[in-house]
Amino acid sequence: MTTDPLGRAARLVAGARRIVALTGAGISTESGVPDFRGAAGMWSRYDPEMFSYPNYVRDADARRAYWRWSREFWPTVEAARPNAAHAALAALERAGRLRCVVTQNVDGLHAAAGSRDVVEIHGNGTRVRCLSCGEERPRGEIQARLALGEDDPRCASCGGILKTCAVLFGEPMPAGPTSRAFDEASSCDLLLAVGSSLVVNPAARLVPTAKQAGAAVVIVNLERTVYDPIADVTVRGTAGDALAAIVCAALPESPRR
Ligand code: NAD
Repeated sequence: MTTDPLGRAARLVAGARRIVALTGAGISTESGVPDFRGAAGMWSRYDPEMFSYPNYVRDADARRAYWRWSREFWPTVEAARPNAAHAALAALERAGRLRCVVTQNVDGLHAAAGSRDVVEIHGNGTRVRCLSCGEERPRGEIQARLALGEDDPRCASCGGILKTCAVLFGEPMPAGPTSRAFDEASSCDLLLAVGSSLVVNPAARLVPTAKQAGAAVVIVNLERTVYDPIADVTVRGTAGDALAAIVCAALPESPRR
């Protein structure tokens, strides 16, 4: 039996039939989207608490700060393309082994890679919703209005406050996706956690939930996480290389793209 973590992870993936992936910001760094804690990251000059949901709703200055951040940083997310890690998870789904991707990310890159069942527990930043009438618009439309000088864009239909469909700090998480994520973690046979520091709850709690329900746990991350001690295998490395190698070894017949 191999002692190499990649080999052991591949054996678990090869033997599993109901895999659930839990992904975090680290799966998208190789696509050029910075993660949360990087020194040069998107939040280095803005404190996201400044535009927490309660502040955002009541204070025009908080909304202006949010949209200034958006004008500066959202183009990086918009330009990003899926990488080998997103592609490997899409391949596992196509092979009928992966039930869904539960993601904390708001960048839309899993869907862009071809994943069909993506449970977005922190929402999706590629769309914007009116808090009054509920109308949704593509984020790009609002970004274009920011570029023309608007600083607190309003709903074109009713004048209501517009907010990203990504969950802000202090905003309730979407109930349906969150409850589905826990159902899936409780009934999978392998939880594959990729590129998450596993410190943001309730997402991080999906790991012990799956373990307690009898699933194997594989954690792929650049650095150690608090749940490494309960993982069956931890792979310390970049998500793109690690997932491509694991999926290639586990599904040798299946083309990745
Ligand atoms: P996090 O920033 O707390 O942790 C990311 C983890 O990924 C770190 O432990 C880091 O070492 C690791 N990592 C970085 N690059 C990696 C790579 N190439 N391969 C493997 N591991 C890598 O992210 P989180 O746990 O997702 O929590 C942060 C919160 O911020 C989440 O709510 C998330 O939705 C949000 N966020 C999302 C995006 C996005 O949508 N892409 C980007 C930044 C933050």
